[in-house]
Amino acid sequence: MTTVTSTHELRQARATLGGPLALVPTMGALHAGHLALVAAARAAVGPAGRVAVSIFVNPIQFDRPSDLASYPRPLQADLAACAAAGVDLVFAPQAAQLYAPDHSVRVIEESLSTTLCGASRPGHFAGVCTIVLKLFNLFQPDLAVFGKKDYQQLAIIRRMTRDLDLPVRILPVDTCREPDGLALSSRNQRLSPQARAAAPAIYQALLAARDTRGTPAQRLAAARALLATRAPDARLDYLELVDAETLQPLDAAPRRPALLAVAAFFGEVRLIDNLEIQPDPA
Ligand code: AMP
Repeated sequence: MTTVTSTHELRQARATLGGPLALVPTMGALHAGHLALVAAARAAVGPAGRVAVSIFVNPIQFDRPSDLASYPRPLQADLAACAAAGVDLVFAPQAAQLYAPDHSVRVIEESLSTTLCGASRPGHFAGVCTIVLKLFNLFQPDLAVFGKKDYQQLAIIRRMTRDLDLPVRILPVDTCREPDGLALSSRNQRLSPQARAAAPAIYQALLAARDTRGTPAQRLAAARALLATRAPDARLDYLELVDAETLQPLDAAPRRPALLAVAAFFGEVRLIDNLEIQPDPA
């Protein structure tokens, strides 16, 4: 496995890689969810292809300085995990490698970014689109792998790829969960024991909403009631039923694939999750 930290070294290493290249962008603190993306990348490119991982805590996508400062950065463990997973190339730069002190260009998606996390985290998706486009330019991958755990991010990256004619195929991967249903996340390790015990209520709330027959308001009320009972200390950021393609809130029973999406604070830690749901039979 080759590990590089500068854009110059990255371009050199990229030039020596033959075969199709799959990129898995991450912010590190790798867990089994990230490794599922690596496995999907490997399966997609086959034995002749190459798999690259970027590990970069992108400062311009953080809306809260405390979240950026406390984001875990276990680089040595991450490199060991990549090596064990058969990754060919890792790019783990410092922020100064990617952002000049006077950097002033952002990629802005103007529709899908207006709801859910985009509404509560100003500038977040502009930061995400900007770093992902930079990584695509640096790696020139044939395909890039993203998790459905960050469903809105996946939708926005797909839109950016389409609208900017980027020659990259986007491969989605299902969410990996703990046995109790909690979606794996690098932020889970910052939960207090009490918050960790309560956090699976997020997923249970999504299941309750999915399994409630009724209007969107009735479904969301069932989810809210479950959260209030099983995670009374959590502070809900949003809980919504949206169209899976446009991400706009639904006020009637879905006639197309839909998405239940939730974000909640457990202390300082903000967790997100989502669940795809199929339309009610007519
Ligand atoms: P992050 O390091 O949080 O920026 O995530 C890097 C990539 O891993 C993103 O495409 C995420 O959607 C994906 N990812 C994070 N958590 C999970 C999970 N539990 N299951 C599947 N993919 C995930």
